[in-house]
Amino acid sequence: MEAKWQEMLNEKTLVLLKPDAVKRGLIGQILQRFEQAGLKIVAGKMVAATKDQIEGHFPKSEEWVRGMGSKTIETYCEYCLDPIDIFGTDDPYLIGLRIKEWNCAYLSIGPVFIFVLQGIHAIDSVRKMIGNTLPYKALPGTIRGDFSINAPDLANVVGSACKNIIHASGNAEEAAQEINNWFSSSEILIWERIDEYLHFVQGEFTSTKKEEKEMKSPLQQKFEALKTTDPRDAAEYAYVLAMINKRNGSTDEAIRYGREAITLFDQFPMETLEQCAARNVTIENIAIPDIIHQEVVRDRLKPLVL
Ligand code: ADP
Repeated sequence: MEAKWQEMLNEKTLVLLKPDAVKRGLIGQILQRFEQAGLKIVAGKMVAATKDQIEGHFPKSEEWVRGMGSKTIETYCEYCLDPIDIFGTDDPYLIGLRIKEWNCAYLSIGPVFIFVLQGIHAIDSVRKMIGNTLPYKALPGTIRGDFSINAPDLANVVGSACKNIIHASGNAEEAAQEINNWFSSSEILIWERIDEYLHFVQGEFTSTKKEEKEMKSPLQQKFEALKTTDPRDAAEYAYVLAMINKRNGSTDEAIRYGREAITLFDQFPMETLEQCAARNVTIENIAIPDIIHQEVVRDRLKPLVL
């Protein structure tokens, strides 16, 4: 598959179910909506968020804080409310700061459930599915519209963020920053949904042979290419493919790639430390052992037998 298409299919976004969603037992119903739309969950966990994690979640720029204040003032104007009555000021930055504080408090009233979704236009699709920030404006059929009812004018009177059950990254930059804030790279899995092929790869006019070729992940394609150009490097790629398949429970594939790695290492003298020194530090977030040879591959893939 062309690299740019693969990149589109790999688009990732971070979704955070806020403590009110978790406490109300809505995780399953919300996940179901994303899964049925065809988005792939590539990471997920329940977290009692620390102060650092919460602070790291929100952008630090003055522009973002000011923007949130301005949006709040706009909503107040719409309903002929005076922000000074609630905030004691009409300065967007000071209002934004207060809302940011409330948001931090909101995310610490209970566990949050966080996950990463992957798929074509994942960022925009998920934002569309969650609906307007303010639940009373969110349309029926959206997650916020169907599961929450709240408005900032009331929330602000009681000194609270507007509880809207869910957050999703607004753009690619935010997604990268938020995924990095909540997950380590090893927590993000590479796996294939059974329907991905049908949705995205199977062109009605593509020949079967071409389809098979296109089904290969970029990592598999790189490995195939290296087998002819640089078999020693290919051995390390085979090791990584074996480890990923083992982690994902694809035992047969893990064994197949483990054997490929051994066969490739067999082509080289692997006796001195220098000969066995790894060429790569990590590949696709999988750490390569500093010293790697046939026995290391066998050992790391245990209990699978190669
Ligand atoms: P979104 O979460 O849709 O990206 P924002 O980044 O503008 O929206 O706001 C972050 C969060 O701050 C919202 O999800 C909501 O919980 C809260 N919030 C936004 N505006 C207000 C407001 N006027 N009063 C209280 N809380 C607000």
